Amino acid sequence: MKINEFFSSFIKIHVLHHCLKEEIYGAWMMVELEEHGYKISPGSLYPMLRSLEQKGLISSRDEQDGKVKRKYYKITSKGKKELAEAKIKLKELIGEILE
Ligand SMILES: [Zn+2]
Repeated sequence: MKINEFFSSFIKIHVLHHCLKEEIYGAWMMVELEEHGYKISPGSLYPMLRSLEQKGLISSRDEQDGKVKRKYYKITSKGKKELAEAKIKLKELIGEILE
């Protein structure tokens, strides 16, 4: 699946949603997205995570787990605000186009 600009927005909202619930890492997020029908490559996902972090919507920390070094992401207060606003807009849009 080609990640066009619509899907990339859906994926960003999906990432924020999970970063609100718990800390996530890239490989986990890829599997989660795939289960929801989004096949995204690391080459698309990691730049997206970086850009969300640069915008101050998520923050990261590195953790060494044996030989694997992982970056864990969680939502920031700015991210929470943005997600809450996106949810209101989504609800409105879904109400109009799907009902
Ligand atoms: Zn999900």
